[in-house]
Amino acid sequence: MTRSPVVFRIPMRTRFRGQTVREGVLLHGPAGWGEFSPFPEYGPRECARWLACAREAAFEGWPEPVRDSVPVNATVPAVDPERAHDIVRRSGCGTAKVKVAEPGQTFDDDVARVEAVRDALGPSGRLRVDVNGAWEVDEAVRRLKRLDRFDLEYAEQPCATLEELAAVRRACDVPIAADESIRRAEDPLRVRAAEAADIAVVKVQPLGGVRAALRVVEACGLPAVVSSAVETSVGLAAGLALAAALPSLPYACGLGTMALLSGDVADDSLVPVDGRLAVRRPSVDYGLLSAFEIESPQWLRRMQEASR
Ligand SMILES: [Mg+2]
Repeated sequence: MTRSPVVFRIPMRTRFRGQTVREGVLLHGPAGWGEFSPFPEYGPRECARWLACAREAAFEGWPEPVRDSVPVNATVPAVDPERAHDIVRRSGCGTAKVKVAEPGQTFDDDVARVEAVRDALGPSGRLRVDVNGAWEVDEAVRRLKRLDRFDLEYAEQPCATLEELAAVRRACDVPIAADESIRRAEDPLRVRAAEAADIAVVKVQPLGGVRAALRVVEACGLPAVVSSAVETSVGLAAGLALAAALPSLPYACGLGTMALLSGDVADDSLVPVDGRLAVRRPSVDYGLLSAFEIESPQWLRRMQEASR
């Protein structure tokens, strides 16, 4: 008999958003498994969208895909140039996203890392940087011009606010992607209205599921890059279903994040091969699931509050 819901806790290999574990709830329904894993700081209103995504996966299933695989980017954390080069070469990906503006590092560190990644990708690879909103407008314009020597595909969230993103976008040629500016369903429309970005980074859980996210992307009109919220293969499958169903997908997606977790609940994990994820839905393995299962009345309460 299928037990559901099941609360899980999986240690992370690398600290992410200040967290060292990833927790959430897996729900089972007639259509399969769904994942509800909002980050700790989110309240019931925001969590309601994450829950809608899990319920769609468990009870409705997803729209038909229009492609059978999705390109994903390699992610390069704020490591030294040799390590950065190595990560990209090993990944097999034709696109790399490089983290810059790490606290405690200098811009010269960023330049060296980006240069190493360009070298690893070769001239035809695509290279994007992620600033996580860390720069002021003038700083962003100056630095992006300098980094564009290495031919940037785009810069993700160079500054924190929409007004700042719009100012950077007017002042430099590097395309701008909004990530942190998009946390709720109405945000992509705000990004578009503010002319703050050329590209929208979207995550399927905060947007309320695959169908809801497809509507948001269509209404927004910007090309979308589907990223994960660092989920298990159950949650990643929903992001993959969104990327697979989008009418156009001009950029590699940020769905190659399985390796950030130290384990998974599926034995056929959604791990990229040669820089691509084949569109599929991994099945939950009960042995693996029970290894990560925890007792957590708090998570079940959180889910109940989100459903009100
Ligand atoms: Mg980002």
